[in-house]
Amino acid sequence: MNFDPVSEAERIKDEIIAWRRDFHMWPELGYEEERTSKIVEEHLREWGYSIRRVGTGIIADIGKGTKTIALRADMDALPIQEENDVPYKSKIPGKMHACGHDAHTAMLLGAGKIIASHKDKLNGRVRLIFQPAEEGGNGAVRMIEGGALEGVDAIFGFHVWMDLPSGIIGIRDGPFLAGAGVFEGRVLGKGGHGASPHEAIDPIPIAAEAILAFQTIVSRNVNPLETGVVSVTSVHGGTAFNVIPEEVGFRGTFRFFKPEIGELIQKRMEGILEGVTKAHGGKYELNIEELTPPTINNPEMASFARKVAQKYGLEYGEVRPTMGAEDFAYYLQKVPGAFLALGIRNEEKGIIYPHHHPKFDVDEDVLYLGTAMEVALAFEFLR
Ligand SMILES: [Zn+2]
Ligand SMILES: [Zn+2]
Repeated sequence: MNFDPVSEAERIKDEIIAWRRDFHMWPELGYEEERTSKIVEEHLREWGYSIRRVGTGIIADIGKGTKTIALRADMDALPIQEENDVPYKSKIPGKMHACGHDAHTAMLLGAGKIIASHKDKLNGRVRLIFQPAEEGGNGAVRMIEGGALEGVDAIFGFHVWMDLPSGIIGIRDGPFLAGAGVFEGRVLGKGGHGASPHEAIDPIPIAAEAILAFQTIVSRNVNPLETGVVSVTSVHGGTAFNVIPEEVGFRGTFRFFKPEIGELIQKRMEGILEGVTKAHGGKYELNIEELTPPTINNPEMASFARKVAQKYGLEYGEVRPTMGAEDFAYYLQKVPGAFLALGIRNEEKGIIYPHHHPKFDVDEDVLYLGTAMEVALAFEFLR
């Protein structure tokens, strides 16, 4: 590469920030990213990319050759009312870019611009994937079904990261984000008068017993050297002080890093409900859905990313794993790659609120570093 991606990215730093602010002011929820994707598409067309649409998602290719590297950004916002008092505050009531996907889109757009201006130096193809609906919508799956990974040899994605100081690139081998599932169940008893429990089958103590027993799955069934989460986050039953209800409903989520732990959690939930309800003469229903697999970085790709960061003087470090989930996992199930973090925490600027918080914000001054890393990854991979 006969240009410096860091200084080129720094040169368009203000443009990246302006894009981010524009997306921030006009947030769109999953699968509704019409405006955002239109802006992205217009720029990419102007810079010479060939475009394929997958709904509100975009697959944009540039360059020719046998090798292809994909870079991915997500574009969706969250149903949150923004509480920041900033000039670029969300103009849409109840919607906000509270996870930083506005920054991801802007960073990758910046990378797209720089890559296009050096397309004659590409020894292969760069594919930019701008996907919809990362937040619980599994937009990655739609993009893969739409052909986003066809012919792709490696994939990288960035997430801005509140857990890292501003400007540090977090690179991790192996599991980074957890796999996630949701469950919804009902404990079925027999309703009756609150004063005559002997004539009823009270689902409330049965549900209470089962929910407490769920807490023994991680503490007693999962190997202590492994990790998992079982959280019952909603319980509802009964309407009156003197009526034993027919049923109690509950919902929640579970998290895991290894598929076998995810399976163990599901099996134990079923077993506990079956045993506890049977012991008290009740019945149960349980629906479990695995939403997202764990995001597991390919160690070779992670070490390639470290070498690239080092070569261009980009500061990088370890990033802690989190039990949050990310649909980038689906790409990594099919193609080697790594999901990277860009630190955006800046105490001096008051940028300290966690992802999905109404006061979440990003340190915009470091976004160009993400752009630089994306450009560097592309050119180094295609050498
Ligand atoms: Zn999020
Ligand atoms: Zn996110």
